[in-house]
Amino acid sequence: MRPAPFAAVVLCAALGLSHAGHTQGDAPKLAFPMACEIGRSCEIQHYVDRDPGPGLLDYRCGHRTEPQHDGVDIRLLDMVAQRAGVDVLAAVPGRVVAVRDGVPDISIRAPNAPSIAGRMCGNRVAIGFGRGWILDYCHLAQGSLKVKVGDLVTTGQPLARVGLSGDTEFPHLHFSVRHDNLVVDPFAPAVLTGCGTQGAPLWTPAAASLMAYKRGVVLNAGFSSAMVDDAAIENRAISAVDPAAPILVAYARLIGLEQGDVIAIAIEGPDGKAIATGTLPPLASNRDQVPAQLAHKRPPQGWARGVYTGVLQVRRAGTVALAHRWQITL
Ligand SMILES: [Zn+2]
Repeated sequence: MRPAPFAAVVLCAALGLSHAGHTQGDAPKLAFPMACEIGRSCEIQHYVDRDPGPGLLDYRCGHRTEPQHDGVDIRLLDMVAQRAGVDVLAAVPGRVVAVRDGVPDISIRAPNAPSIAGRMCGNRVAIGFGRGWILDYCHLAQGSLKVKVGDLVTTGQPLARVGLSGDTEFPHLHFSVRHDNLVVDPFAPAVLTGCGTQGAPLWTPAAASLMAYKRGVVLNAGFSSAMVDDAAIENRAISAVDPAAPILVAYARLIGLEQGDVIAIAIEGPDGKAIATGTLPPLASNRDQVPAQLAHKRPPQGWARGVYTGVLQVRRAGTVALAHRWQITL
């Protein structure tokens, strides 16, 4: 059975500030700004856009960005995690120079979403590091701000919680760095156009290691007894596997894929042999978010007892760019 599509595009605020390169003089050294673990409870969705024109280019010459995107988007895996509360942390010490609260946590895709004109960043904390450096933390949860203008903060201090306010449709922190009002890419600050120049990042070695570049990520994966949509993943409202149900579904949600990528998904039975396989057509464009799921009918005699494995591969330019396996016992 062919993987079925569900919602696809993710958006984040592009604040429209002018871009420029920068040298590091008195630059801050940035700690990781969220109380989550990359690869386990959060992932990077977008980097700074380094294409001076309408194209998309991240610092590693990939396309994991949006037009004129001026920051880094660090994404939670679903809305359940957002509602439980994940702290946004000060990346450097400094003084709070601006805050905004009162913007509701609601996806811009929601039918009742209010206008975000002039509030693209949503709830916000801006912190001055000195000598013209400003760090902006956007899309914070309404009512979660823990600081006010004039407060001095220390590295790692909670500022607010990750939210869904402003120009966003997925729970994340939009973190941006400016110097003298010009955008700086913390991954490659020396120049802000083009890619492949690896110069020293503004991140601490620990933060840089946590955020090592990935050419695509499996954000969520699991099994269900019913087809899975985006809302079910966001709300963890996924039908638990019932061995008596008519189908077994292996599902995944991937981010940061590229035009031409081919997603293959399979279910392996307890003997390690594939009992179902499916392959999506090559992606027609770069994709922020792509679903994949594969259903297999319950055999008339019922499932053989044992461990079933979901197997996902993304093939890119003749090689396996991404592979992921997950299991359930029936
Ligand atoms: Zn963003």
